Amino acid sequence: MKQTLIKNISRLVTMNPASGRKGPLGVIERAALRIDDGLIAWVGSETECPKFDGEVLDAHTNIVMPGLVDCHTHLVHAGSRQGEFKLRSEGKSYQGIAAAGGGIMSTVRATRDASREKLLAEAGARIENMLSRGVTTVEIKTGYGLTLEDEMKMAEVIGELAKKYPADIRGTFLGAHVVPAEYRGNREEYIRIVMEEMLPAISGLVSACDVFVEEGAYTRDEAIAICTKAKEFGLAIHLHVDQFSDGGGGKLAAEVGALSASHLDYSDGVGMRAMADAGVVAVLLPGASFFTGGGRYPDARKMIGCGVTTAISTDYNPGTTPSLDPLMNASIAVTQMGMTCDEALLGITKNAALALGLSDRGTIEVGQRADLAMFDAPDEYYLLYRYGENCLAGVMIGGDHRGGGVL
Ligand SMILES: [Zn+2]
Repeated sequence: MKQTLIKNISRLVTMNPASGRKGPLGVIERAALRIDDGLIAWVGSETECPKFDGEVLDAHTNIVMPGLVDCHTHLVHAGSRQGEFKLRSEGKSYQGIAAAGGGIMSTVRATRDASREKLLAEAGARIENMLSRGVTTVEIKTGYGLTLEDEMKMAEVIGELAKKYPADIRGTFLGAHVVPAEYRGNREEYIRIVMEEMLPAISGLVSACDVFVEEGAYTRDEAIAICTKAKEFGLAIHLHVDQFSDGGGGKLAAEVGALSASHLDYSDGVGMRAMADAGVVAVLLPGASFFTGGGRYPDARKMIGCGVTTAISTDYNPGTTPSLDPLMNASIAVTQMGMTCDEALLGITKNAALALGLSDRGTIEVGQRADLAMFDAPDEYYLLYRYGENCLAGVMIGGDHRGGGVL
């Protein structure tokens, strides 16, 4: 059995407020932590640590938290859209840019044209970037291929990333992202291809299916049909809903038994209560509202008041929010959505894991995976306060620590 003890932790932020621990984040000061074969085996105050003869790692009074979980990204794509960002800064509308060949279809074209090797190399650099920020679990969606062949290519690249990098990478099929330009006059045929050709071929490569439900994307009835089919293949359901208008997305997510629903900028109380009752996790994407400018933020206070579990994610994508930084997004959630710092930190750890249906990580307690992030900071709130700064001092995934870092 491989055993490791991490000692000299100034604050162990367990995200498990069990009795005797401080605050909603369950902080243990001057803590130690033992790992047996990749799982957490003992957690407590250093002075109470049982005698130990195995590998000992010194945390040098840094703080240790669960590894961060980014539960909603579009990390595999080709091309970059900073030119559009410049045009928007000069007053051009998103619709005008899309009509001139920009927008999401420009990413679809670039991704279709790109080789697997190119997609893998570019997405790999993004995964490295996330690892360097303490992210240990990442969800990645397809949805820039929009043909059987190109969606397969994206799903296979996600699988390659999962093999190549130590982060736990989970794929989601998003063939119903937008209706591709070549099917604008015949959307029924594209939806048939999604359900009858893409889902059977891709379901073995991913663990979930997502649908973008919005005016201009997919309707509620289309989403129900696609989700029903996806569930036949054993896939979990995520949805993009209520980003630009209240389309009853919360209720829809509850009806189709979704694990999570993302965006929710325009969701009403009825939808929120339906999500709370059905246990659908809300994935809030503050970076998308921030970066598109003039966007509305979801009403996180009302959602939490309704009893909804709220996660926060980057929604990394090349168009509306090209940020790989969950902590930056958590800071925006605090300043723009009225979340408390404690809620925001839970949103990128424990609750983000729950959004992916994972209860074996996101907290530091006995029996959990040893996915840890160590930060050189006086406390956990400093990470949100110094927005945009990277204080990572080390990362551990399933008990393995990367060379060079202290952990
Ligand atoms: Zn998204």
